[in-house]
Amino acid sequence: MLDAVVVGAGPNGLTAAVELARRGFSVALFEAKSTVGGGARTEELTLPGFRHDPCSAAHPLGVNSPAFRGMPLDRYGLEWLHAPLPMAHPFPDGSAAVLSRSVAETAASFGPRDAGPYRRLVEPLLARWDTLVRDFMSLPLTALPRDPVTLARFGLVGLPPSSWLMRRFQDDRIKTLFAGLVAHVMAPLDGLATSAIGLVFALSAHARGWPVPRGGSQAISDALAAYLADLGGAVHTDYEVKRLDDLPPARAYVFDTSPAALARIAGFGDYYANYRYGPSVFKIDYALDGPVPWTAPEARTAGTVQIGADQEEIGTALRAASREGRAPDRPFMITVQPSVADPTRAPDGKHVFWTYGHVPNGWSGDLTDAIERQLERFAPGFRDRVLARATAGPAEMAARNANYVGGDIACGAASGLQLLLRPKLSLFPYHTPHPAVFLCSSATPPGPGVHGMSGHNAAKAVWRRLRQAP
Ligand SMILES: Cc1cc2nc3c(=O)[nH]c(=O)nc-3n(C[C@H](O)[C@H](O)[C@H](O)COP(=O)(O)OP(=O)(O)OC[C@H]3O[C@@H](n4cnc5c(N)ncnc54)[C@H](O)[C@@H]3O)c2cc1C
Repeated sequence: MLDAVVVGAGPNGLTAAVELARRGFSVALFEAKSTVGGGARTEELTLPGFRHDPCSAAHPLGVNSPAFRGMPLDRYGLEWLHAPLPMAHPFPDGSAAVLSRSVAETAASFGPRDAGPYRRLVEPLLARWDTLVRDFMSLPLTALPRDPVTLARFGLVGLPPSSWLMRRFQDDRIKTLFAGLVAHVMAPLDGLATSAIGLVFALSAHARGWPVPRGGSQAISDALAAYLADLGGAVHTDYEVKRLDDLPPARAYVFDTSPAALARIAGFGDYYANYRYGPSVFKIDYALDGPVPWTAPEARTAGTVQIGADQEEIGTALRAASREGRAPDRPFMITVQPSVADPTRAPDGKHVFWTYGHVPNGWSGDLTDAIERQLERFAPGFRDRVLARATAGPAEMAARNANYVGGDIACGAASGLQLLLRPKLSLFPYHTPHPAVFLCSSATPPGPGVHGMSGHNAAKAVWRRLRQAP
């Protein structure tokens, strides 16, 4: 009998499997698709030689992840590549605010009135960053906080809505950039703990940047899978699990799936019926015959570029997709230009370009025109550079990955209490009604993103049980 079976080879499933295997447990992993990776994959979606990331592309959470940093993933080919600037947020007048590795450069881009308050906000937290990131990504109850004072301090500034935090600042530049950071997890700007979301992205940029893996996001998954194989773990692909009986006998079962799928597979009835799924995205991967012609020079050197003219435009776009059931006229967009840091992603002189805007869950329209109108506002002539595009709305997202229920790429709305307490109001989110069955996907804390910390935390719950149970 195996010690543990893991279902789903996304970053969390792979991390859970590695954490168990490196502690000497026998592990087998079963993945529905023909390759490992889940939300961290790379494919030629448009033209030969253009290597696109259908899901995750930029990795502030990955490079800062205590789980990944505790593994020798560099030995298995993972190399982080950095664009000159982690992130730029251009404005319609051709200027830009930036997130740079340097706090001073970042603060200067916000203007003279906000530079000092920004430094006073981030510098004390940045000084304790490695402990802080471990402490809050391990909540709840998987490890005792190493620095409870800094964690409490972070909680005090992070728990209120981002609109409160922004009262410290005078000008629109930082407020707009920060609204964009909150929008990465599709949380309404006035929601609980949205200040923490923005701060985590900003602190990540200062600590270790927002890099891309050489060769694309698949490199993260391939490194985890290769490490798992070296530890003796077995990976079975093209194996969709529909019932517990589909799996070999094991002492523990760990699911990197949505709560809805787990309930169906394990017969948990309506145990997760109150779990809410959130909005979706309309994603476009472009093959370009040159770099994006951004008006703002900073945007040309940034790995990630946020598109949203001001707080109001970003808030309106978020409300349209998450509360009003309609696609925004002017979508807030995250764009990533991986070939700025990694020219191997496209043929000589060409580029891959990644973007999405938010749309309602299950929306069936086409956002291409609205997305390209936004791009033309900030990068006139963009359309002339397009060689090919691959589009994917909610239905295609859900078809790519069963965890994206209705196209929700966060595997559950990251808003309200569910941002912090997922998948249920419980101090033991990785446990389920069955003592041998565990959940490890991004539907558990710390939530969406390629960081493996849900898998890492769930693995602790699993090995504690394996050590107790016969
Ligand atoms: C368009 C898009 C852009 C994103 N951008 C970023 C980004 O830039 N940076 C970032 O950090 N994050 C990003 N994310 C989020 C990130 O990809 C996810 O949060 C992360 O992949 C979640 O990891 P996971 O292991 O929980 O689940 P997933 O990565 O979703 O993996 C789940 C795996 O389980 C498999 N599975 C599900 N059900 C079954 C079953 N019944 N049987 C067998 N296998 C099953 C699936 O096929 C899949 O491989 C993005 C996601 C999307 C879709």
